[in-house]
Amino acid sequence: MDGAFVGSASGRRFEKRRPIDNALLGHVHEGGRDEIDAAVAAARAAMEGPWGRMTVEERSALLYKVADEITRRFGDFVAAEMADTGQPKSMMEHAFIPRGAANFKIFADVVKNVATEAFQTPTPDGAGALNYAIRVPKGVIGVICPWNAPLLLMTWKVAPALACGNAVIVKPSEETPGTATLLGEVMNAVGVPKGVYNVVHGLGPNSAGEFLTSHPGVDAVTFTGETRTGAAIMKAGADQIRDVSFELGGKNAGLIFADCDFDAAIDSAVRSVFLNCGQVCLGTERLYVERPIFDKFVAALKVRAEALKPGNPEHKDTTLGPLISQEHRAKVLSYYEKAKAEGATLVTGGGVPQLDGALAAGSWVQPTIWTGLAESASVVREEIFGPCCHIAPFDDEAEVIRLANDTRYGLSTTIWTRDLARAHRVASKIEVGIAWVNSWFLRDLRTAFGGSKQSGIGREGGVHSLEFYTELRNVCIKL
Ligand code: NAD
Repeated sequence: MDGAFVGSASGRRFEKRRPIDNALLGHVHEGGRDEIDAAVAAARAAMEGPWGRMTVEERSALLYKVADEITRRFGDFVAAEMADTGQPKSMMEHAFIPRGAANFKIFADVVKNVATEAFQTPTPDGAGALNYAIRVPKGVIGVICPWNAPLLLMTWKVAPALACGNAVIVKPSEETPGTATLLGEVMNAVGVPKGVYNVVHGLGPNSAGEFLTSHPGVDAVTFTGETRTGAAIMKAGADQIRDVSFELGGKNAGLIFADCDFDAAIDSAVRSVFLNCGQVCLGTERLYVERPIFDKFVAALKVRAEALKPGNPEHKDTTLGPLISQEHRAKVLSYYEKAKAEGATLVTGGGVPQLDGALAAGSWVQPTIWTGLAESASVVREEIFGPCCHIAPFDDEAEVIRLANDTRYGLSTTIWTRDLARAHRVASKIEVGIAWVNSWFLRDLRTAFGGSKQSGIGREGGVHSLEFYTELRNVCIKL
């Protein structure tokens, strides 16, 4: 914080264990009220200092340097994130870490190219007025992040916040402290003024998370995580009427019509159900398959699920990582038990894979597929956040739209069909922030991203991020 590493005043620390084998990775200083107070003071001071006087072009150039420095230290970022999450190295190298760097360049460009409105307004005396808006930074932004794609999701918020001239205080997930800390080194190395990027490690309730979101010196909070945590954060900021941007949970449906490109739909389902061991907010936990291809689809997905290979993330042939923690594994396995109790037909999985040596102690679970559950089953209704899905048949378009929408969540959906008219029709009727047609996890980052219903508040991405990270100040000049 404030450009330097500091220990927690209370001396409190928490353990971070490796998901692959439960070995102790390290002890992390737990920030409390003192550290949050100090971080807020540092961030406010930074806004008053050289950072607050920089031009958009200067900030933008600095963010390019941040991206380049992440790329220069690519190996360190890959190693840190791999140790924290246990996910395959190839995913870190080809997706998560490059996107972390790219986020800074994207928002450095966006912020330079946004116009604001201006009107020549008539007045009774005929001279008129010029009425225009300027964008100003919102101030000090609290950034609370989850563990499932730590650098990518954190920089998705930090980059636009800094591009707009704010200062940030990041509270990374207690499960993934690594890359947020490394990013502090990057900020110092490229000359981001001290106090602009602060990290306070800690837990949620009665710890750094809660103290940050309830602090009166924080101007806005951007959060990615579980829906019920979002509710707690909203309550914590209610007295200050604080602006929030929330990216929350999902229970996303995949709609597979009989006329689809079958092989492509299976490839996509394998990714959207099992990528990152199912720990993807946009992942698919409910699949609805049109009846004529239902049996064939279930059989094909079973083969692909059973071919996934758990193991050491460094190995090239590893295609499945562990869950993030023993605690999360216990939660996912409790749903595996609930599925049994609720009368599911187990297609594959349902338990724990056998791994050799030290890996046997890691938080692994089997990729799991069920059929035969009622729509009221908890496994069909609640977000599990594991490598699992329920597959149900459907008979017509209206029915599958009703099934897909019968949830309190509204994050994303995937639609597989060759009928273009149907694709447009269905996409417009599913109550989600993003509907994919014949694809998944593909998006131009300049477009709006967010959730409907209880999957979020607000939109981030491109100019939409600027709406949250800036305020429009209206200036009216009588001519
Ligand atoms: P989580 O809500 O448990 O924790 C997220 C963060 O909030 C952590 O840093 C945690 O310490 C902090 N936190 C917890 N309680 C808090 C409190 N009372 N006050 C302040 N901070 C608090 O979520 P998670 O388990 O880390 O992540 C998984 C969840 O995130 C899933 O529900 C997933 O769908 C969601 N997610 C959503 C998106 C999206 O874009 N919509 C992206 C990724 C993950």
